[in-house]
Amino acid sequence: MTSKKIIAVFGATGAQGGAVVRALLQNSSFAVRAVTRNLDGNGAQELKKLKAEVVKGDTDDKEGLKRILSGTYGCFLVTNFLEHFDMNREIQQGKNVADACKAAGIKHLVFSGLDNTEGSGAAGPVHHFDGKAKIEDYIEQIGIPYTSTRVSFYNENFLNFNQPRKTGENKYAISLPMGDKPLYMMTVSDVGPWVVEILKDPLKYKGKKLHLAGDKLTLDQVCATLSKHLKPKQFEYVPIAVEDFAKSSFPGAEEMANMFHFYQLKADSLRDVALTRKLYPKTQTFDAWVQENKEKIIQALK
Ligand code: NAP
Repeated sequence: MTSKKIIAVFGATGAQGGAVVRALLQNSSFAVRAVTRNLDGNGAQELKKLKAEVVKGDTDDKEGLKRILSGTYGCFLVTNFLEHFDMNREIQQGKNVADACKAAGIKHLVFSGLDNTEGSGAAGPVHHFDGKAKIEDYIEQIGIPYTSTRVSFYNENFLNFNQPRKTGENKYAISLPMGDKPLYMMTVSDVGPWVVEILKDPLKYKGKKLHLAGDKLTLDQVCATLSKHLKPKQFEYVPIAVEDFAKSSFPGAEEMANMFHFYQLKADSLRDVALTRKLYPKTQTFDAWVQENKEKIIQALK
């Protein structure tokens, strides 16, 4: 028997959940029950090396979820729309975990929520936001003590989904439909310490939706920061219209174009960088993240 508070972590082999596992394991008050669908995968093996309890679980499997949540103090839940692009399925997956949390009587659920974009004037629906907003509503409605962490655009997207495009020798372009509006950003590894701070102080954070970001920069500023630290490589922001970005060939391009349009419309108020620094003063700026990850960024550039 452990006297530590057990936190079930969904998405433990992924970016957000992985950061949460690592941060929780550094705090002596918590033990981790890391959930994955694939106990034999590399992600699960790495978590075992970190001494997390790793269990098999699937957010589509209602009965299995009850077993996973049994005996836990809390839960971190991130649902993954980007695996299936099906909002109703994401909502059901979130509800399944919420129901299991309720049945287990957990004391604190931290849910990686997002904003409701309906009626915002965005060019079209942003299903991966709206689904998470509906899960938040459901969690509230069934009365689970919860905190929602509404996070921002990951800096790490520049290493994969939104990699700068090579335009010449040591020249790169970033083309996202943000116009001249600033983008709220963060390193996904900060989700770990943010969630630990929230779980450490339930009275302060229960019932709250926290709008989290480590920085707020225009894409001209993003490019200037990359150019400053990755010399002789130079980066230029090449704006693209929302409707042109929507025609890109990658899966979910239209959804992402609508999301950037929503970001533009909410550029003044979507997230709160000052509040985020109060929650965790070491929250990284984009500048600090680039300096710390120079090699990784250079390797990711084609
Ligand atoms: P990720 O790195 O791609 O990892 C996905 C995780 O979800 C994996 O650990 C996977 O576990 C788990 N998973 C997927 N389906 C599952 C299921 N049915 N049952 C149990 N576990 C399941 O994802 P992430 O970036 O941490 O989170 C993705 C979410 O972040 C998306 O919904 C997206 O909307 C949101 N988000 C992204 C950004 C961004 O800038 N990229 C910003 C804000 C929010 P196994 O494969 O091991 O089972």
